Amino acid sequence: MAGKGKGRAIGIDLGTTYSCVAAWKHDRIEIIPNDQGNRTTPSYVAFTDVERLIGDAAKNQVANNPINTVFDAKRLIGRKFSDPTVRSDMKFWPFKVISGAGDKPMIAVTYKGEEKQFSAEEISSMVLTKMKDIAEAYLGTTVTDAVVTVPAYFNDSQRQATKDAGTIAGLNVMRIINEPTAAAIAYGLDIESTRFVPKNVLIFDLGGGTFDVSLVTIEAGVFEVKAIAGDTHLGGQDFDNRLVKHFIKEFKRKTGKDISGNPRAVRRLVTACEKAKRILSSSFQTTIEIEALFGGIDLFSTITRAKFDELNVDLFSKCVEQVEKCLGDAKMAKSLIHEVVLVGGSSRIPKVQELLQKMFNWKKMCKTINPDEAVAHGAAVLAAKLSGEGNGKVQNVVLLDVTPLSLGIEIAGYLMSVIIPRNTCIPTKREEIFSTEEDNQTCVTIKVYEGERSRSTDNNLLGQFDLLGIPVAPRRVPKIKVCIDIDANGIMSVSAKDMGTGLKNKITITNSTGRLSKSEIDRMIQDARKYKLEDEEYKKKVASLNALQDYAYNMRKAIRRSAKRGAADRKKIEDAYESFKQWRHFNQHAHADDYKKKMKELEYVFGPIITYMD
Ligand code: ADP
Ligand code: MG
Repeated sequence: MAGKGKGRAIGIDLGTTYSCVAAWKHDRIEIIPNDQGNRTTPSYVAFTDVERLIGDAAKNQVANNPINTVFDAKRLIGRKFSDPTVRSDMKFWPFKVISGAGDKPMIAVTYKGEEKQFSAEEISSMVLTKMKDIAEAYLGTTVTDAVVTVPAYFNDSQRQATKDAGTIAGLNVMRIINEPTAAAIAYGLDIESTRFVPKNVLIFDLGGGTFDVSLVTIEAGVFEVKAIAGDTHLGGQDFDNRLVKHFIKEFKRKTGKDISGNPRAVRRLVTACEKAKRILSSSFQTTIEIEALFGGIDLFSTITRAKFDELNVDLFSKCVEQVEKCLGDAKMAKSLIHEVVLVGGSSRIPKVQELLQKMFNWKKMCKTINPDEAVAHGAAVLAAKLSGEGNGKVQNVVLLDVTPLSLGIEIAGYLMSVIIPRNTCIPTKREEIFSTEEDNQTCVTIKVYEGERSRSTDNNLLGQFDLLGIPVAPRRVPKIKVCIDIDANGIMSVSAKDMGTGLKNKITITNSTGRLSKSEIDRMIQDARKYKLEDEEYKKKVASLNALQDYAYNMRKAIRRSAKRGAADRKKIEDAYESFKQWRHFNQHAHADDYKKKMKELEYVFGPIITYMD
């Protein structure tokens, strides 16, 4: 059933390394496979001389085109270029990131021979477009609405930027929700199941490049984040790298050759290792076979699960330590945890599960939903509910998110004055009256912070703005009402009003957080459409080139096989084929129409000969 006469609604887990999309179908939530049949899609976008590739196609060609293959956009989204985490992440990226207007990081690539710059929102929008296309192909209808997930620690700016990415992709983002919340919903930890008994839930999310542990208490559908721990650079890629190192060493020992200086060989090895790692989650042993890895020598080897575990033992213990830390921060004993929810592809690793299980005294864990699909699953439940799809069970889900941190403004003496305390259910709107600090003060600066410390500067500055034109008066006389409004997506706007004059200044925090303006978003929507058309144009072109090649090749094959044809006809066809081959070489980037024209030419030569052949 489509919701309200529009297109369908979907849930999207927009991951750092992989994304996943799900929707309500066949009376249940279904994870939607992509065009390659995979249930998760790499969050990769690649630009080449001739086309733009997204997902598996982009990741598969990374060895040949590293500087124009973009990934990890989630690490950039909603951040400034000067952000220290951006500066340190940049060192590991083969693609170029530069500082754009307003300190915004821009990704610079060469696309069709020209330098192009894209914001993280645009790259993410391309991934979202891919997820939307995957869903549309599967559902056989248009998709207009989506629930998109973000990490629990994403701030206002990162959430807003993610929403912008959805808008650029042509989606109406109904909600932005926290990934651990989505995973909990997938397991039915909602209002019904927690109405009378609050549940303490530990969400263990070990993904491709990040590790997040969250401890949430759910009571009557209200999610309260008690503590968050983890590591922003720990995940599947690290386990892959351990395997890579192992095989580089082994290859050197066996052949005397060191492949580590050859990026292409290393990249091929990384791909093979990721595959082997996945297999080791269900088998005890697997083989790695890469032909002509280096200097024409193959790599043929085996690896056991035990060896894989041994190579990663310190990384696995790090995960356990972070779980301990999270429990410690929340001051909660292990025995008080009702549910442990496994999330993220890497939590499929048996050793990781074993360590966690041991820690929780062999408690049964929530892993009936594939860990790398749980977040998208939960997002799809909410999407179905919000759009009126799904059955009664889905409709019963009530989700109330809370503010993870207190929000307030700075007052005299660098003090934080809290307006919205942490764990307030959102959406919410709260106001408070403030005043001036000095006589005849005509301007106040409203500085908005999030955090629990009493000194404002120890908290996180979200943004600031001025209210000008306050009439001259002694200190403490003017009454200034400050209002913080948080919508259901956790996105905030702050306003200030001088009660005496009615002078108002309603400002959404924008500049300080590198958010996009309306006109920038509009431009990006235009671009997204343009690139999509180009992609389609390119697909058409490749299809006609393929048809042309097949035709020429088949004609030549037919004449070579036919005993009936005379030498003159044979020569005619062989010559035509040779000349076509040359033409093709010089016309790699011709238009679909050119290929169609060429087809006609070939048919003119081949047609009469072939028709009377058999
Ligand atoms: P993200 O971190 O982007 O949210 P995922 O949660 O999908 O992404 O996790 C992706 C990681 O999970 C990748 O490193 C991938 O190799 C790993 N992974 C996926 N399936 C398995 C598996 N069966 N065994 C081990 N690791 C896996
Ligand atoms: Mg994830």
